Formats: sequence, C-alpha cells, structure tokens
Amino acid sequence: MPLVLESTLSCPYCGHQRTESMPTDACQWFYECRSCGQLLRPLPGHCCVFCSYGNVPCPPIQQGRDCCATSKNGRP
Ligand SMILES: [Zn+2]
Repeated sequence: MPLVLESTLSCPYCGHQRTESMPTDACQWFYECRSCGQLLRPLPGHCCVFCSYGNVPCPPIQQGRDCCATSKNGRP
C-alpha cells in the first residue's frame, strides 16, 4: 500500500482544517493552527499531531511500525 504523505489536520479549538505534508522519518509533536494560533499537541497515547487530529495517521503507523513515541513512552 502506498504511503500517504499528506494529512488534513482539524483544529479542535476552531475547527479549521488544513492539509499538511508529513515527514516520513520523524513525528511531529506540535502543530500551530493557522487560523486561531493554538498549539496542538498529540492526545495521550498518540505519537504525533497527525494521529490525533489528521484524517491520515503518520507514515510509521501506516507502515505498521512502532512510532518513535511508543519507545519513548515505554513506561508501565
Ligand atoms: Zn484553530
């Protein structure tokens, strides 16, 4: 399955939607809404803003790989 490298992020504060391209080798933790300026952070258990607010999860998740966050948040 080809990777999707663009995701449409929906701001939970103002509902603004914007399509952003995703990096394939890193997770994006922060995203500033272009409309209201709120800084979006991943929801608990999510690795990046695309997994939390995008319509497409980030590339590592699409590939079925563990994302950087899973190893980072390896607390019991
Ligand atoms: Zn917003």
